[in-house]
Amino acid sequence: MVQKYRNGGITVALGTPNIVYVEGRCVGGGSEINSAIYHRTPPEILEQWSAEFEVEALGEADLRPHFEACEADLGLSMRSGAPPGASQRLREGASLRGATCAEMPRLAPPGPDNGGRRASMTEMIVPRARESGCRLIADTRVMSLRRRSGGFSLDADQTLPGTAPRKIRIDADFVFVCGGAVQTPALLRRSGVRKRIGDTLKLQPMIKVVARFDSDVNHPDMWVPSDQVGDVSPNFSFGCSISTRPYLAMAMSDHPDSARETLEDWRRAAVYYAISWGGSGSVRSLPIVKEPLVRYRLGREDLCNLSDAVRELSHLLLQAGAKEVFPTIRALPRIRRPSDLDGIPRPLPAKRTNLSTVHLSSSCPMGENRARCGVNSFGQVHDQPGLYVSDASILCGAPGVNPQGTIMAFARRNALAFLGEL
Ligand SMILES: Cc1cc2nc3c(=O)[nH]c(=O)nc-3n(C[C@H](O)[C@H](O)[C@H](O)COP(=O)(O)OP(=O)(O)OC[C@H]3O[C@@H](n4cnc5c(N)ncnc54)[C@H](O)[C@@H]3O)c2cc1C
Repeated sequence: MVQKYRNGGITVALGTPNIVYVEGRCVGGGSEINSAIYHRTPPEILEQWSAEFEVEALGEADLRPHFEACEADLGLSMRSGAPPGASQRLREGASLRGATCAEMPRLAPPGPDNGGRRASMTEMIVPRARESGCRLIADTRVMSLRRRSGGFSLDADQTLPGTAPRKIRIDADFVFVCGGAVQTPALLRRSGVRKRIGDTLKLQPMIKVVARFDSDVNHPDMWVPSDQVGDVSPNFSFGCSISTRPYLAMAMSDHPDSARETLEDWRRAAVYYAISWGGSGSVRSLPIVKEPLVRYRLGREDLCNLSDAVRELSHLLLQAGAKEVFPTIRALPRIRRPSDLDGIPRPLPAKRTNLSTVHLSSSCPMGENRARCGVNSFGQVHDQPGLYVSDASILCGAPGVNPQGTIMAFARRNALAFLGEL
């Protein structure tokens, strides 16, 4: 985590409640540390974005060749063996609640749980890019960019292992900023590019729940099961989370009285999540400090949706045989029977609820609607010829599913448009 996560994984969007977010900080970015679960963008989301943000050529048929190309390049795989116990329980509970739990494909080599391997950028794409002439400058953080005649100059801090930090300058005819939904708007704003940049951050806030069963559901080799329940509500979905002992310990930190017992019984315990897509936030660069200020606001309705999500997920797990359920809400009594679900506050209490997210997007949305969009339909910053954004920032809103399939397809589409090959 020290090497690959920004600030060791301790980054927070301030609000009530605060939301802990995580960003990759290494060559390959989030693809090096993520669960590699893959979705195409739902067609109705593409339709909504096209209409509201006036994005050209963003229909399902426009995107299909890009999804197909990314899938063929990186490879999708499904689990080869039986579902692990944690997945099995989610499936049973979903079916008893009239919902469907399905395994999602992974961008990963085939194999049992794939041993945590993924078809990440450094595994698959970076070597090809270098063979094709890409020069990669690692350990280097771009601090600002400015226009010069015929192109741009980038000022960067470089810290190569074993050497003293130094400042370098990189000149370029064209620039694609791909720093992720927080760092991209921060860099652009530091560089004086601010119109509709960093005003509309979207997170997919997630609340976790630990369930204890009376038989084993967890084992030392279980990676993140990729089973999800997507049809339970238009406002949230569920899935299995990472359940190794350190993550179990973190998820139990709101229930210190039961934490030791649960950790000792870890084979019978698993972590699940409910994810929603409400709220909106901003990214602002600050003087002197390197990290931007990230703020996020969830309204009453969003906290009601999250409360409904915790209640439904807990109910589902009880029906799947859970003896006890612990949502990440401080001072909430453990849930043992359906009548205990009435104790879950609605809306969730902002000061006692622990939310996190790994899905950040939409801080520089794309489209021709200039009242809402920082970049045009193909990623060029409005009124800034030669300057492009190509990462999660350009998604018009939260996609409601794991986002990397959308990010890759948009990047491919926009790169081909830049080359005049679309
Ligand atoms: C733990 C975790 C699990 C996840 N699981 C999934 C999943 O299963 N499925 C899914 O679809 N998505 C998942 N995601 C989300 C997904 O990984 C991200 O949405 C995606 O990686 C974002 O891509 P991006 O290109 O916008 O930015 P990133 O992947 O964050 O890449 C940004 C890159 O820019 C670099 N950078 C930033 N600022 C600068 C600067 N100033 N100068 C130079 N370089 C800079 C960063 O170091 C990084 O390499 C997960 C994320 C995490 C963290």
